[in-house]
Order: sequence, then structure tokens, then C-alpha cells
Amino acid sequence: MPYLLDHFDAVKELLALHPFGLFTDVDGTISEIAPSPAEARVSPVCRGSLTALAKHLDLVAAVSGRSAAEAREMVGIDEMVYIGNHGYERWVGGNTELIPGVEDYIIGIKAVIDEFNKRISIEGVVIENKGPTASIHYRRCRDHEAALKAIMAAVEELAEDSNLKIGLGKLVVELRPLLGVSKGTAVVSLIEERSLRGAIYLGDDLTDVDVFVSFHREGLPFKGLAVGIVGEETAPQVVREADCTLNGVTDVERFLRQIVAEVIDRPAA
Ligand SMILES: [Mg+2]
Repeated sequence: MPYLLDHFDAVKELLALHPFGLFTDVDGTISEIAPSPAEARVSPVCRGSLTALAKHLDLVAAVSGRSAAEAREMVGIDEMVYIGNHGYERWVGGNTELIPGVEDYIIGIKAVIDEFNKRISIEGVVIENKGPTASIHYRRCRDHEAALKAIMAAVEELAEDSNLKIGLGKLVVELRPLLGVSKGTAVVSLIEERSLRGAIYLGDDLTDVDVFVSFHREGLPFKGLAVGIVGEETAPQVVREADCTLNGVTDVERFLRQIVAEVIDRPAA
């Protein structure tokens, strides 16, 4: 798998395409994974570069499993677009829009979480109800394997009854509506809406692989580069499906600075 910082020429070629968009995941990509989601902070270096890029590129978007409003709060740049809840919602210029049909799942997600809490209690589990999706984090559990097993045993039946699908991430179980929506469909929709000709996507986890795969479909009207952010907890699919890799948030900081250096001298698009 090519190491992106050794192949910056390919990035320069993409940056020459207009309109161009940069998409980045948040946790594990521009923010180090923290013991709990509330403790995570976006790298100030990344924020500085993204602020500059939001002025110079046609589109800069953050794509997160968090709610769109929370991703906006965390990154803190109003000029960006925020795709939240793994693609089920979008924050643009102060307004949050849900994908049609998603509202129907908000009650179901709450019911599953309430029932889950009634059935089991595992020390260290942190549950986030994000409206149309939910995350069950087991990072703080002493025995990760046992915690995952117990969570899955409880959640599998509940999810099926409520038409939810289960996704796995870095020490997290995700519950999402069965609507065929993913970070991949959300990113490609935004690319098509903005008629982008070039795009770069940065992501570190399994839900980002949906974007990587969607960039590799035949006959797309844009050229996309899928960048896997690799570290100790990286799932093999992330490396397998990415076009190239960077090592952790530190490399993302370096990469974004290089893009800033590349585009800052050219006239604003
Ligand atoms: Mg991530």
C-alpha cells in the first residue's frame, strides 16, 4: 500500500481538478481516539489547516459517526459541511438536514437502547444515543472480547426487531437504520450535487471503507483518492481498500499542511 507522503505528485494532480473537495473523518483521523468520545479533541494543527483550506478549496467536509451538530461543534469551522450520523444527516451553514425516512427510526433507536440497558449492565460501557443512530462503546471495559460478546448477544435480536443494522468500529458497536445509507452514499451524493471533479477522503475505520469502495466504482464522473489512516487498531479492510495510507493523526497534520502550502499561493477557486 503506497505511503501517501511519498506520492504527493498524485495529490497535486488531483488538486488541479476543479471543482475539488476534501473530505475527512473526525475521530481517529484529525482527532486522536480518546478513552471516551467526550474527551476527544480535534488536533489544533489540523483545525488550522482545514480553516485555510475551507477558504481555498471548493468544498471541505467532515464526515463522522457523531451527530452533524456535534461534529461541527468539535471541528468548529462554519465554512465546512458536516455529514453526521454515518451519512444520515448533514449540517450546512447552520442547518441540519436528515435523510428522508430517518425520522421514523429515532423512536426505535431509543427503544432499543432502553431495552438494552434493562437487559444488561457492563461496567465501562458508554452508550451514545445520537437520534437516528446509536453507538455502544466498550473501550473502557476491562475485557474487550467479553464485552463485545455480551453486547452483541443483547443487541442482535433487538436490532432485528427494530429494522436496525449493526456495524462494528474501533471498540464500538453501532446501530443504524436499514436504509442503504452509509458514509459512502452520503459523500458521493455531495460530490454529485457539487459537481466535483476531484476528491480526497481521509478515514481510519470500517465505516470509512464504504467511502473507499464507492470511490472505486466504474464510470464515476470524478476522480477520488481514498486515504486510510493507519494505527494500532486499524482493521485490515481499511488498508486493503485504501489507495494509500498515512500513519495516524500526526501524518494527517503533515499532509494537510502540505495541501495548504500547495493551494495557498494559487488564486481562490
Ligand atoms: Mg474515525
